[in-house]
Amino acid sequence: MTYIADTVDVVVVGGGHAGCEAALATARMGMSTMLFAISLDSIAMMPCNPSIGGSSKGHLVREIDALGGEMGKVIDKTYIQTKMLNTGKGPAVYSLRAQADKIQYQSKMKHTLEKQKNLRIKQAEVTELLIEDGKIIGVKTNSNAVYYCKAVVLCMGTYMKARCLFGETIIPSGPSNLMAANALSQNLLENGIRLFRFKTGTPARMNKNSLDFSKMKPQYGDEHIVPFSFEHTPEEIAREQVPCYLTYTNEKTHEIIRNNLHRSPLYAGVITGIGTRYCPSIEDKVVRFSDKERHQLFVEPEGENTDEVYIQGMSTSLPEDVQLEMYRTIPGLEHCEITRNAYAIEYDCIDATQLKLSLEFKTIRGLFSAGQFNGSSGYEEAAAQGLIGGINAAQYVRGEEPLILQRSDGYIGVLIDDLVTKGSKEPYRMMTSRAEYRLLLRQDNADQRLTPIGYRLGLIPEERYQKLLQKQEKIAEEIARVNAVIIKPTPQVQEFLESHNSTPIKSGVRLAELIKRPELNYDKLISLDAERPELSAEIREQVNIQIKYEGYIRQQLQQVEQFKKLEHKLLPEDISYEDIQGLRLEARQKLSAIRPVSIGHASRITGVSPADITVLLIYLEQQKGKKV
Ligand SMILES: Cc1cc2nc3c(=O)[nH]c(=O)nc-3n(C[C@H](O)[C@H](O)[C@H](O)COP(=O)(O)OP(=O)(O)OC[C@H]3O[C@@H](n4cnc5c(N)ncnc54)[C@H](O)[C@@H]3O)c2cc1C
Repeated sequence: MTYIADTVDVVVVGGGHAGCEAALATARMGMSTMLFAISLDSIAMMPCNPSIGGSSKGHLVREIDALGGEMGKVIDKTYIQTKMLNTGKGPAVYSLRAQADKIQYQSKMKHTLEKQKNLRIKQAEVTELLIEDGKIIGVKTNSNAVYYCKAVVLCMGTYMKARCLFGETIIPSGPSNLMAANALSQNLLENGIRLFRFKTGTPARMNKNSLDFSKMKPQYGDEHIVPFSFEHTPEEIAREQVPCYLTYTNEKTHEIIRNNLHRSPLYAGVITGIGTRYCPSIEDKVVRFSDKERHQLFVEPEGENTDEVYIQGMSTSLPEDVQLEMYRTIPGLEHCEITRNAYAIEYDCIDATQLKLSLEFKTIRGLFSAGQFNGSSGYEEAAAQGLIGGINAAQYVRGEEPLILQRSDGYIGVLIDDLVTKGSKEPYRMMTSRAEYRLLLRQDNADQRLTPIGYRLGLIPEERYQKLLQKQEKIAEEIARVNAVIIKPTPQVQEFLESHNSTPIKSGVRLAELIKRPELNYDKLISLDAERPELSAEIREQVNIQIKYEGYIRQQLQQVEQFKKLEHKLLPEDISYEDIQGLRLEARQKLSAIRPVSIGHASRITGVSPADITVLLIYLEQQKGKKV
């Protein structure tokens, strides 16, 4: 018998990385919020790699933190190793990555949810959406309890009609043998929502006491720690770090895999879900890169209080017996004890082109969607969408404009624009190459780009906002000062330049000019700069980057101006593309399906050509002419 359990402002379906951020955002924006998870033990669970961040993913985590999200704060408190990646390249691709203690990460996030005002969490499966006149009004759970609400954020991740496969073994379950969600998919289909079938995979876990680390190369974290959260200082989160270990597959490994491909559900065609090319299984690597003699693997600890380790780089869906045989060919794993088999998981997700840039469904008002369920892959991508989905569910309930982050505002803007405008035929993974304005979207300046927005929405407290304004003031003052300081060609200066293989100066130059030299930087020039004020590492980094890359940054800012011009050329919501002469058939169909908000947005739709954009621009001018 159905009964009315409660009425709240927002319901969040799912306690994964997306659901946690969504629920915290709506509760912190004053919405009475209910978060449902099939099992509360799945809250902030890391069913795959025990790490947060990495190339471009580190950018997402810093942007989540800058907007007032939680992931950065939790990983700063639960990491066991941290590293800044890509420091051999430019600051645009510097990216933080931290090994997490999975269990501590989960319990810290779950405790944060439990303590959060306006938020309640409940273990229950949502089996049905309640929709009236094209508008969400509530949800029903597997105990026939009805929760009325004004907005819902769907964050069901990899659980929808999920099944796990390795060899001939097929288990109808979510990740780590947690219960799958088998009812809601049918309800979504009945409400006209298109679903895809995607897949991903994970490697085996092993008992580290059965491994021989003397045959592997230890990989240590950085001594100089950089927090993910702008609220933390390195000193506050400093701790002892644990190493990971590097080893490799070899020809024996590859031979076993080739000899058993017929028993892989992937190669036997049992798996129909589409996987991501950027996280290939070891079978895929051996088949696609057959010229490679070996593939690198990282043995990563899953936490401090467990001896389970994760074999990064060797996910598979080969049968259990083959898994043991192939893993035991790896140096250091000759006697490995597998604690959890590797497996592939198939699950339902949506075609994200059904969503607006606010992550609200185009066809159901008040229904939002975020995370892996939108066709992305990765904890960070999920958390970023969860935060935006939560913010916009709250804005919807408040009757206020949604937050739409542009591609020039952040990686989060790129992520969502790509998903809802181009859609994704495979799990979408963020990469720095996807962000055309990446020199402006660095992980080090996420706070300057996004914290004012988080403050306006009520997710960033006054004190933190004031701290940012002070930081920006100090950066501007110091940049002005080094642009005013003249360095004279004294013997001491010439000696310094010579010792840094830098060309001697003939006359006085501005300190800023010296900072721009590739072999020099702001920190190195301290001995020539007597008046230098005491500044934090964070501010010194900003001064150095903004001066050193001044020219490139100005260039990219000009490109953003061009980009914004087209983004501001808005398209009427009720435009009928069928009636616009000169548009190609494919463009009419794509424009009618996606319903872009601007000319810029339209120009990014696959199948809409520059010629079609010209036709649209002329059409807009003609419409303007008619109104005058
Ligand atoms: C086996 C495996 C391997 C992976 N490998 C990779 C990888 O290599 N690289 C990578 O980037 N990412 C990988 N991932 C993906 C990564 O785990 C996800 O990106 C991330 O967890 C997604 O977060 P999410 O919040 O969207 O969903 P999830 O973390 O999946 O959380 C979903 C939540 O929704 C709840 N839920 C679902 N349906 C319902 C319902 N009807 N009612 C109530 N609650 C519900 C669940 O209980 C859970 O709390 C892998 C995931 C799995 C399972």
